[in-house]
Amino acid sequence: MSVCWKCRTQYPPEVESCVRCGVQLKAAPLMEDPEPPPEQFSARERFFGRFPGLLRPGLMGVACFVTAAAFALFYYALIMLKMGVIFGAVGTGAVALVIYAQALTWVMMGEFLILHSALLDFNARDYPIFFALLFAPFLIFFLVLKYIVYPGM
Ligand SMILES: [Zn+2]
Repeated sequence: MSVCWKCRTQYPPEVESCVRCGVQLKAAPLMEDPEPPPEQFSARERFFGRFPGLLRPGLMGVACFVTAAAFALFYYALIMLKMGVIFGAVGTGAVALVIYAQALTWVMMGEFLILHSALLDFNARDYPIFFALLFAPFLIFFLVLKYIVYPGM
């Protein structure tokens, strides 16, 4: 019996990686041992366990393209906001946020899940990371534009 150290799904011994997470499976403990603490895994294993999509070049390519589109839309929303087109800016900003959130879930789940089902699949420790990675880049992008690229605006 093998077990995925990320999602705890159990597999027959011949299966080598988790279907859901894409991480390498570990042999399950023989006795009724409590789950091994995360300290047993290297920082690298934990990092790629959290972002299995980073190991998939095709998925990363699409995610980067979608992220770039999201930031182009966000930029467009800021221009609309500057021009006083408030509803247009809010609508465009919301679309930018959703498509970037979708790209982020691909990277975090390691597969092309629709945003809604990916959010249901997250475990409790994934949410703070997800929301930090969701809002921080937009905030940084906005601050860079406001104070560095266009300081006069
Ligand atoms: Zn798994």
